[in-house]
Amino acid sequence: MNIEVRDLSKTYPNGTHALRGVSLDIPMGMFGLLGPNGAGKSSLMRTIATLQEADSGSIRMGDVDVLRDKEAMRARLGYLPQAFGVYPGLSAVSLLEHIAILKGLTERRQRRETVDHLLQQVNLFEARHKAVSSFSGGMRQRFGVAQALLGQPSVVIVDEPTAGLDPAERVRFLNILSEVSQRAAIILSTHIVEDVSELCSQMAIIASGQVILSGEPQALIERLEGQVWQTLVPREALPRYEESHRVISTRFVAGRIALNAFGTQSPGDEFSPAAADLKDVYFCALKGWLPAPSAAD
Ligand code: ADP
Repeated sequence: MNIEVRDLSKTYPNGTHALRGVSLDIPMGMFGLLGPNGAGKSSLMRTIATLQEADSGSIRMGDVDVLRDKEAMRARLGYLPQAFGVYPGLSAVSLLEHIAILKGLTERRQRRETVDHLLQQVNLFEARHKAVSSFSGGMRQRFGVAQALLGQPSVVIVDEPTAGLDPAERVRFLNILSEVSQRAAIILSTHIVEDVSELCSQMAIIASGQVILSGEPQALIERLEGQVWQTLVPREALPRYEESHRVISTRFVAGRIALNAFGTQSPGDEFSPAAADLKDVYFCALKGWLPAPSAAD
């Protein structure tokens, strides 16, 4: 089921203009919402999740007018916020049972089966009698997915889920989301480019409350092909390059600086062509070097 966000705007009472006319089409599968801190990702996620109001604009999911008919949206929604509190001492299985009751799973046997199945799905069945408050960050996030999946939602929203996870936990967590995305639309909000490039079939980049680019990650990378150039420069030369070239990104390599630059033609003899990746797309978009989304994207 597609979600259509149209012209969504939000200004907080302190005057922060967090969303400025956001329009997006979010299809089934995994959708990555990428942007720097403060871009407006959480504001957008919370508005889609009916946790806060917009000033103007609309959100539709199928025949549901999300901003007007919040209950209908909530019945179809699973939400994993950035951080969620847990009752100290309560085991994974009891906490999930409690949440299941709140979500209306009143028939005991069916509830038990659902809870066990979800704990298996997120690889927490062995740890089900342990206190959630004693879980590692990765286990907590997986528990978060299990609670978000109660009630078979058709949309699951996950806000910055991999921050603070170690690499193995991150992979395990993302694999679970990927599996869930066979059955539901998943909106993954993140500032980590790799989360999107590894998993998402569609994405948008948001900055200063506006969508600056959207489409399929691979298609966006192809748009940049032939326009990314790389070179190695001494550290002290960096300021000069930053002044005279469109520097996309830099990283240290054995005491020198590997530099990616943007250009429709080679920026100089010392540069060689580089294969574009989603990080290049992200940084070029943020710097305004890529055209805004068009009807063709
Ligand atoms: P992101 O999730 O991309 O980091 P947010 O949606 O959290 O972005 O924030 C967008 C902007 O709105 C930021 O400038 C942030 O400080 C501001 N903001 C977020 N929530 C509130 C709030 N409740 N009241 C006032 N300003 C807020």
